[in-house]
Amino acid sequence: MLEGCTLGTGGTLPIPDRALSSLYLRANGQAMLIDCGEGTQVGIRRLGWGFKCLDGLLLTHFHGDHCTGVAGLLLSLEKAGREETFHIWGPRGLKRVMEGLCVIVPPLSFPVMLHELPPEGGELSLIGLDIRAFPVDHGGIPCYGFRIHLPRAAAFDPEKARELNVPVTEWKNLQEGKTVRAGIREVTPEMVTGEARKGITLVFSTDTRPCETLTRYTRDADLLILEGMYATEDKRPQALKNHHMLFSEAGRIAREADAGCLVLTHFSTSLEDPEEHLDAARNEFANTFAARDGMTFVLRYPKEGEKAWIALS
Ligand SMILES: [Zn+2]
Ligand SMILES: [Zn+2]
Repeated sequence: MLEGCTLGTGGTLPIPDRALSSLYLRANGQAMLIDCGEGTQVGIRRLGWGFKCLDGLLLTHFHGDHCTGVAGLLLSLEKAGREETFHIWGPRGLKRVMEGLCVIVPPLSFPVMLHELPPEGGELSLIGLDIRAFPVDHGGIPCYGFRIHLPRAAAFDPEKARELNVPVTEWKNLQEGKTVRAGIREVTPEMVTGEARKGITLVFSTDTRPCETLTRYTRDADLLILEGMYATEDKRPQALKNHHMLFSEAGRIAREADAGCLVLTHFSTSLEDPEEHLDAARNEFANTFAARDGMTFVLRYPKEGEKAWIALS
């Protein structure tokens, strides 16, 4: 199961009910963030899923609406009693940006490890998720989208266990990943599992024009969380000038990717009620929703040949 919350759904500037960009994700009993706009710590407190389980942060890029909450976040982690290393990934220049953002942060009770992504992006692992960072088109500034995969272990196959004469009393140990003895032979969990099973894939990408990498890495995702900075066609000149997307463009990407569900976020302050304009995206991809601050979602492993089960609330 993969759970998340759109803590902040505003782009550029916050408004009273719309904080700046941040996504909270949890899986395997741990949690992480993507982006940390101003006030992210308030959203986490309101959500109530906790600070202590947070192990890392991915920054899409260094515009202020995505990273000015980092100092406050680190202070909240300290107050939560963190001692373990906290990892932050971001574009090149991360060290310099963090020095500037954290000049007011006193020495912390835990180490912070910074990881600068190369221009072409790369693969990383966090809270048991396999993550691919891919570059997107936000004008001249380096910016990444993230394809996030929660793998699923292959199922235990009782037939194979019987064939190898594993006592039934040892099956639970094998299911828990332990090696057991069957007579004179050792049996590993891999020896008694069936076909690999499909995991869950989520793609998060804001602050971009439609581009080839976005098309490539959104392919077949269960859930896409994409920017909907501007709703309607009349805003195309602004979308082009500021390197953002229209609702219809995000919808088209979801349709071409054959995604399971599209959630729009990162709304312009000029967009009072994103719900009002959802048809602009739904004309391209019917299963589209508008995020709001504090909206949570749950994804469960898919059945064979299907997309992951999703609930939004
Ligand atoms: Zn932004
Ligand atoms: Zn930006």
